[in-house]
Amino acid sequence: MCGVFGIRSKERDVARIAYFGLFALQHRGQESAGIAVSDNGRLTVVRDMGLVAQVFNEQQLQALPGEVAIGHTRYSTTGANRWANAQPLIHHGRARTVALGHNGNLVNVEELRAELVEDGVRLGSGSDSEVIAALIARDPAPLSEAVASAMGRLEGAYSVTALVDDTLVAFRDPFGFRPLTLGQIGEDWVVASETCALDLIGAEVVRDVRPGEIVWVDEAGVHAAQALPVGRNALCIFEHVYFARPDSRVGGVEVHGARVRMGERLAAEAPVEADLVIGIPDSGTPAAIGFSNASGIPFNEGLIKNRYVARTFIQPDQAMREQGIRMKFNPLSEVEGRRIVVVDDSIVRGSTMRQLVAMLLDAGAAEIHVRISSPPVVSPCFYGIDMADEDELAAAHRSVEEMRSLVGATSLHYLSVEGMQAATTLPEDAVCRACFTRDYPTRVPQKVAKLRFEPARA
Ligand code: 5GP
Ligand code: MG
Repeated sequence: MCGVFGIRSKERDVARIAYFGLFALQHRGQESAGIAVSDNGRLTVVRDMGLVAQVFNEQQLQALPGEVAIGHTRYSTTGANRWANAQPLIHHGRARTVALGHNGNLVNVEELRAELVEDGVRLGSGSDSEVIAALIARDPAPLSEAVASAMGRLEGAYSVTALVDDTLVAFRDPFGFRPLTLGQIGEDWVVASETCALDLIGAEVVRDVRPGEIVWVDEAGVHAAQALPVGRNALCIFEHVYFARPDSRVGGVEVHGARVRMGERLAAEAPVEADLVIGIPDSGTPAAIGFSNASGIPFNEGLIKNRYVARTFIQPDQAMREQGIRMKFNPLSEVEGRRIVVVDDSIVRGSTMRQLVAMLLDAGAAEIHVRISSPPVVSPCFYGIDMADEDELAAAHRSVEEMRSLVGATSLHYLSVEGMQAATTLPEDAVCRACFTRDYPTRVPQKVAKLRFEPARA
């Protein structure tokens, strides 16, 4: 995952606005953050490891004047969690210099890298995103045409904001895997991964950037072109399940409402007698409210979350992740002696729920009925969510009963694929749900390793 942002404005402080845009997109990536600005065609980038508020201070923002800014928050899917892979990245090509931030993941990056290297292009980073920048930067055609030809070569997921001279460019793959929204603030144009970023800066949501579309903003105003025909829309349904912020509208549907409906449907599909419904905060809370609404079992807080701890997945190795869970949650005496429905949005690797069930039993819970407001995650994601390895997916080779036993619960049920789909109110042919169904909208690589382009380390 990742968050991207872009703005062009003559009058406004574009770096400061990008900062606040990224601040609202922090949940999409906590490994690194960066902003690139163009000041009369002169490019400057500030990027570093850490949270948006750690990377930037007042002084740095003041040192970033310009009329175009793009920003990025990173959560790695291809390439390691290290400085050289922080974005926006800058690539100097034969035809132009491109600064770019990418949310998504390419599936044909090996072929493209080989071709670029063959062509004498030097690729400095281990991320797939530089390939996109390099294709645009070596092409002497006018910018929008160069972007369109690059898009024709890319397979996989990309929602991109880029900066070339004084032009802001945004484009999205023809499947529309990852969200990207166009907004307006006064006369000025902005793009962001999620509508919550537009809300924070006081921009109006205009519309989504369409799958396969390029939008660019220059001195003359805003322009749009359908670079590639829309195939089948395949907006990632995991945005509604987990990833997007609940106050964002993704694919036109507010995420919180979708999550509440998932919980309501789950209660209808997998009812249980219990005393109390609790959610795993924060992402499990809306579905827990929905479960309580539909079942009549009272909802209350059962676990208190330390909100100063970054998302547990963000430290990308298992040892750190396990440690992270202990830092994050503490049970309330509320749970003592009660039969509890524990609602969470998903089980991926299984370690969160296993530890939470143990924690709640330890705190005196009488029974624990785990209800998951999405289906079992059984297949890797090649489009930008960090679940690339089937061996890491707890449910890939386990039955629901085996999953129950793994997490140590009294009972365990998942929401059906149909129930999840209905809760989003989006049509089935408008989403990608391959991680739940193994039905991929594109060809996918046989095998992927996240660090495959990283230099070997001693
Ligand atoms: P796991 O089963 O891997 O231990 O973790 C499941 C928990 O992680 C759930 O509470 C869910 O909200 C959250 N989660 C699910 N998918 C992702 C993801 O792609 N990234 C992050 N940071 N958390 C996730
Ligand atoms: Mg969660």
